[in-house]
Amino acid sequence: MEKIKMTTPLVEMDGDEMTRILWQMIKDELLLPFVDLKTEYYDLGLENRERTKDQVTFDSAEATKKYGVAVKCATITPNAARVEEYGLKEMWKSPNGTIRAILDGTVFRAPIIVKGIEPYVKTWKKPITLARHAYGDVYKASEMIIPGPGRVELVYTAENGEQKTELVHQFNGAGIVQGMHNLDASIESFAKSCFQYALDTRQDVWFAAKDTISKKYDHRFKDIFQEIYDQDYRTAFESAGLTYFYTLIDDAIARVVKSEGGFIWACKNYDGDVMSDLVATAFGSLAMMTSVLVSPHGYYEYEAAHGTVQKHYYKHLKGEETSTNSMATIFAWSGALRKRGELDGLAELVRFADILEKASIQTIESGRMTKDLALITELKNVTVLNSGEFIRAVRATMEWMLS
Ligand code: NAP
Ligand code: MG
Repeated sequence: MEKIKMTTPLVEMDGDEMTRILWQMIKDELLLPFVDLKTEYYDLGLENRERTKDQVTFDSAEATKKYGVAVKCATITPNAARVEEYGLKEMWKSPNGTIRAILDGTVFRAPIIVKGIEPYVKTWKKPITLARHAYGDVYKASEMIIPGPGRVELVYTAENGEQKTELVHQFNGAGIVQGMHNLDASIESFAKSCFQYALDTRQDVWFAAKDTISKKYDHRFKDIFQEIYDQDYRTAFESAGLTYFYTLIDDAIARVVKSEGGFIWACKNYDGDVMSDLVATAFGSLAMMTSVLVSPHGYYEYEAAHGTVQKHYYKHLKGEETSTNSMATIFAWSGALRKRGELDGLAELVRFADILEKASIQTIESGRMTKDLALITELKNVTVLNSGEFIRAVRATMEWMLS
């Protein structure tokens, strides 16, 4: 069989530990035999970040701006233990944080749905994509312990020295206070990313906040979403038969639980943090959660939502067998290849991405899966495969589908 051609390279960001092992196996078994794979390779493994003083992370993000589409392996975010383990000169920042800051994007997470791994919510038939605003609010807040009676105010000093104040509270006793902010520009990017991704994936957008209580802060989010929608997206949405609506966060929860799924749920930073874990767990497994960073400038970075699966890696190093689920990493590749194919007008590459996903899903639905899924599946007669066996089983399914 002749290999499928690519015209523009993908930005390939390699990573750490068990996912680095899976990365190579996926390339060897599922990609290189079928695709004349063109990538510009950046090694974001911790050792190379250390060697390059993290420059490689910055370079990989700049390359994503140049080419438009990246695929990333999970990476270690160093903490004190990792500094010791790897003898680091510095506690390098989270690569995902660095990349997100450069691309200015929003992260969309969606579960991979397979028969036999059923969502805990009976009505959910299609994936729910959660879009989390990743700037500001309580994550960049200033806080103060108030020791006793006194007055707390918000003070804004303009550049010309003019001031505006707002009473927070006249304290009669001890208490606490918090000041948080957001930026119109960041909220605008968030809204644009959501609407753009909705058009790309043909899904409705739901956005929810609490503007009845937060009449200025949350109201600003609501207004910006509506303005951007009316100005830039309403026409495209209407001709694609899609809808956007805003509702209160508590109403959204009720609707989400009663829904069939199949839409994008845009959340403010804190709501997104909490709700993405709820959605991931309710759909079955973290190992089945995909993630894509979409920037308002049209750059895409695909990855798995989970980490480097450190515990499995240590078993692997000891020569023990692992059964690590590669689905979300496979889907990071298929997502990136599909997007590359769409942008470059390569129908064969898009078709390959579809087949890779179908083969992966069908392998699980036929009862062959890794241990994490075997523990929760409703299928009978399941065969538990190790990390490599699962990937080779997907390859066999794919070869059968292609022939
Ligand atoms: P993790 O890698 O997500 O794994 C946590 C646990 O979840 C695993 O021990 C395993 O449970 C289960 N799990 C996750 N992915 C799985 C898969 N594909 N197949 C089977 N089981 C899976 O989180 P972590 O161990 O807390 O973090 C390890 C490293 O990843 C950290 O250094 C962290 O900084 C990094 N991290 C990176 C990213 C990213 O690059 N996007 C995201 C999160 C974390 P069992 O042990 O019970 O089998
Ligand atoms: Mg969380």
